[in-house]
Amino acid sequence: MKPMGPLPPEFADQRGMLTIGGRPASDWAEQTPAFVYDSAIVARRVARFRAAMPGIDLHYAIKANPHPDLLAAVAPLVDGLDVASAGELSRALAVREAATISFAGPGKRDAELEAAIAAGVTLNIESEGEATRALATAARLGIRPRLAVRVNPDIELKGSGMKMGGRPSPFGIDAARVPALVRRLVASGADWRGFHVYAGSQALSAEAVADTQAATLALAARLAEEAGQAPPLVNLGGGFGVPYFAGDMPLDVEAVGARLATALAERPAILRDSRFAIELGRWLVAEAGVYLARIVDRKDSGGETFLILDGGLNHQLAASGNFGTVVRRNYPLAVAHRMGEPAEETVSVVGPLCTPLDRLGDRVALPRAEVGDVIAVFLAGAYGATASPTAFLGHPPAAEMVV
Ligand SMILES: *Cc1c(COP(=O)(O)O)cnc(C)c1O
Repeated sequence: MKPMGPLPPEFADQRGMLTIGGRPASDWAEQTPAFVYDSAIVARRVARFRAAMPGIDLHYAIKANPHPDLLAAVAPLVDGLDVASAGELSRALAVREAATISFAGPGKRDAELEAAIAAGVTLNIESEGEATRALATAARLGIRPRLAVRVNPDIELKGSGMKMGGRPSPFGIDAARVPALVRRLVASGADWRGFHVYAGSQALSAEAVADTQAATLALAARLAEEAGQAPPLVNLGGGFGVPYFAGDMPLDVEAVGARLATALAERPAILRDSRFAIELGRWLVAEAGVYLARIVDRKDSGGETFLILDGGLNHQLAASGNFGTVVRRNYPLAVAHRMGEPAEETVSVVGPLCTPLDRLGDRVALPRAEVGDVIAVFLAGAYGATASPTAFLGHPPAAEMVV
């Protein structure tokens, strides 16, 4: 038997039939495989952030879950949306005004730069070459572009699942070259919006997050001094993680907020009038989503029992351990109509794909489940449907629903 990660708090104390957003999971038993997202859980995470970090802007990084109905529910709750492609940009523009949207990502094509500048979205500039193309596009359109500079920081987020700073990187501009670029953007007449610094993802240590934020503030102040320009906005990045696996402890967001408040109170004078933003994806939405799949077959092989579902890594790659993890560990799973019941057997829960990678639960302890029963895979609200190889092996896509 191998352990599973913890159920998100909204599901941990449920008994009997799983409910999502107050509705029984049996409502969707005929619609599997399906993702169900509870927008009230997202609203609760936003409220917790607001209480812990008053005065800090909250941006939603929509790549975590760009489903249009979820986006429509989240957009009014946050201060901005961060997008990473023209496709995400058009979804964001459908639910928010352009001035609150920023566009980051390496390799923005000319058409993407043009769409962003024409709409009035802030571009987080990722290289000197991209700056040249953005300025030329803006001149051609006769529009003053809103440009921020994404910094490749000389710091990294310790203990994060995915480090994105402190080393050679396709993301952002090496810190040492940033002041010259800022001077150039300002001299070109661009509306310089400030800095964007993103040092990593999926961090559960409040101390590591707070240390990174403090270092980011110091870095932004140093770059601003060298550029001779006060940044209107400093996007401090995000990296707030969620507990996926056994032994993971939730991030102490209140502790992060307390340390950030202290760091901001003591910030260098050049940042006195700046606004500060934190951009979050998974922390806002991961726990709000449940992936529901039905048992198609139950079989034994070599002493191991397999529950074979009607969907697997083609919809929820991350739960199979093949998206951003080194060692495969079990996400929390449950038999949907037997929440809170004691385990009766050890089973491996697999998808229908012809690959041994398609394993959502490896020798997990569950109440007994039969063909036709629904298995719930938790923490499916971020990097699920759009971060999975849906075309692989030609099974139908999963439905997605917001409650
Ligand atoms: C992916 C990404 C995010 C969101 O990361 P999460 O781990 O989902 O919070 C935020 N900002 C940038 C620049 C990103 O690339």
